[in-house]
Amino acid sequence: MKLLEGKNVIITGASRGIGKGIAEVFAKHGANVAFTYSSSEGPALELEKELKALGVNAKAYKSNAASFAESEALVAEVLENFGSIDVLINNAGITKDNLLMRMGEADFDAVIEINLKSVFNMTKAVQRTMLKQRKGSIINMSSVVGVKGNAGQANYAASKAGMIGFTKSVALELGSRNIRCNAIAPGFIETEMTEKLDEKTVQGWRDAIPLKRGGAPKDVANACLFLASDLSAYVTGQVLNVDGGMLT
Ligand code: NAP
Repeated sequence: MKLLEGKNVIITGASRGIGKGIAEVFAKHGANVAFTYSSSEGPALELEKELKALGVNAKAYKSNAASFAESEALVAEVLENFGSIDVLINNAGITKDNLLMRMGEADFDAVIEINLKSVFNMTKAVQRTMLKQRKGSIINMSSVVGVKGNAGQANYAASKAGMIGFTKSVALELGSRNIRCNAIAPGFIETEMTEKLDEKTVQGWRDAIPLKRGGAPKDVANACLFLASDLSAYVTGQVLNVDGGMLT
């Protein structure tokens, strides 16, 4: 059964990693996918082709999620190309890790702007359309680090915890218009990026997880599928941990 047949979705940061996994699973479930990237034009255009081959409408847009003006322009363009927006996934994110003692102002600001302000930018940009439709699902990609904190990631943890507060507030404000807003808190998800890490260190992380493995982008994508589809029609304001039991 296709759970997102005919729905139009925007995913920020889908040229690789988790965002790409979401785009692929969503397209297989019949969604039309508009997605953004920051600089990876080649992989983004590749993905656009791959998604179209699945028989859905798909388009890659270069857009900086940290920019309010670019987010507004992006949504206007997506509306012109796709007609409506049913689902927004705020997935774009970066890390600039350092102990607080060594963390510079620029590294704090960049992480807050790309991870947290982007969520404000994109939610504002789609709000009017979703209000008019009286329907919408917004999914914000937080992290277990936003729930628990992590040494060496004060900037990242603050941005991800901020996303949770934003999510719950939007759920309260827009619930009466049938617009739902939830967050996902992934644990350790193995992507191309983690392939470059020392295997022994990564195995140590896997061993500490109750399900004894790192997650795959598909694991996060399937949780997004539930929150984007009508299966979760009565679920809003929640944080869904997708972490193999890490925070249990
Ligand atoms: P990733 O592989 O580094 O991919 C990040 C994506 O975001 C890329 O498509 C990148 O585009 C895009 N991006 C970066 N800055 C952007 C900007 N300013 N505007 C628009 N797009 C931008 O990351 P990931 O591991 O898949 O993580 C995706 C999300 O899940 C992030 O929010 C991350 O914090 C969260 N998360 C990840 C994990 C994990 O273990 N991987 C765990 C918890 C939460 P380019 O390719 O063009 O740079």
